[in-house]
Amino acid sequence: MKHRIYDATGKFISVRMCVACRNCKEKSALLRVVKPKDGAVRIDGTGSMAGRGAYVCKNADCIARAQKIRGLERGVRAGVPKELYEELLKFEE
Ligand SMILES: [Zn+2]
Repeated sequence: MKHRIYDATGKFISVRMCVACRNCKEKSALLRVVKPKDGAVRIDGTGSMAGRGAYVCKNADCIARAQKIRGLERGVRAGVPKELYEELLKFEE
């Protein structure tokens, strides 16, 4: 799901939807998890890795909820190991 919205200054910004709370936020406010075609699911620190991606807010509630409802799994259409969720929590803001 991709949208464009305007920020307060009228500039276009790209927003993505958190799989847990389903709020749309600016990409920089979200963590991206990506499943590359030929690799394991990982956290996409650059936000631009090729592959199927899913987004979650940088907060523990959304990360825990994403794990509970398997939102990231659905987003990337692959299994997401527990360790990856633990890794995500390190990015919490
Ligand atoms: Zn969220």
